[in-house]
Amino acid sequence: MDAKELPPFPELPLTVAVSDCLTGAHVRYDGGDKREALPHAALDGLYVFRGICPEVGIGLGVPRDPIRLVGDPDAPRARVFGEQSGGSGSLTDVTAQLRAYADSQLPALDEVDGYVFMQRSPSCGLSGVKLFNGDTPGTVRGVYAAQVLRRLPALPAVEGGQLFDPAAGANFVLRTLVYAHWRRTNALGMTAARLIAFHTAYKYLVMAHDVPAYRQLGNLLSDLSSAADSVAKPYIRDLMRALSRPVSRAGHTNVLAHLQGYVARGVGDRKKLAGSIDAYRRGRVRLSVPMSLLRRHLLESGATYALSQAYLRSDLWAAVDRAYNMLQEARNVRTPNL
Ligand code: SF4
Repeated sequence: MDAKELPPFPELPLTVAVSDCLTGAHVRYDGGDKREALPHAALDGLYVFRGICPEVGIGLGVPRDPIRLVGDPDAPRARVFGEQSGGSGSLTDVTAQLRAYADSQLPALDEVDGYVFMQRSPSCGLSGVKLFNGDTPGTVRGVYAAQVLRRLPALPAVEGGQLFDPAAGANFVLRTLVYAHWRRTNALGMTAARLIAFHTAYKYLVMAHDVPAYRQLGNLLSDLSSAADSVAKPYIRDLMRALSRPVSRAGHTNVLAHLQGYVARGVGDRKKLAGSIDAYRRGRVRLSVPMSLLRRHLLESGATYALSQAYLRSDLWAAVDRAYNMLQEARNVRTPNL
């Protein structure tokens, strides 16, 4: 691996798209906003938000009749429903407009590192949006959000409400940082060498989250005879999917044990290092304890390969920890009805 193939690790704040009502913009059908549905204070300094309202974007005014999703759960239709559109029997179909609007946003979305969607919205909801389907109602994804993620399957996405869960919020921060690094790498022009360098830097982070995905990603890169560009898209989609899985104590312990193997003989106190990893496995110390001890041992060993691993980056974990702690604090003061 040649780390010189990669751009510097991204710095905070990152730019993230967000359903505009979550920013406090009065764009909802009733003229209101949903600023309280996003823990702004806890995310301060991590993100710059770029608000997008697809319903306003397709020319529906504020206030406006609400949209309902109807029909086939596999291909729901978004219809404007209500008095302003001619009474309860009139259902103007805006599915095509919402999809076309999502497509029109792709150049702007190529410049962001994640997307925070408004939950339960027929346009922006990621899941659990009510489908009005006669006797067999169900839940689906909002039409606009579905189109965005169909086009950009690797883009880290979350609903504003999920960010009140510290673990989910910390995971989103981790994914946006990795995706930000990927975007910057891709912007240099994707080559086989760059793809391998990226994978090499992130393999232990993926291993911590999902061992089968770690193997499968390695297999995907085992034959780069075709254009790196064509492998890059499924690669980053699968890598981001793997990182969206919660990482367990066992996953971290496995990776710490692997990286411990790069400590040179005679360096430091190996027994103390092994004891620290074991204490983490048993839940007696925080991850930062064995990790900083491991870093020191690897530095002393001159283990540049192990030290180039994103998994050992202190700035990555500092951002993730900070988000977790701030969201934990925000959850304690959260309005109960959110
Ligand atoms: S949920 Fe989406 S479409 Fe609805 S007001 Fe918010 S940004 Fe606009």
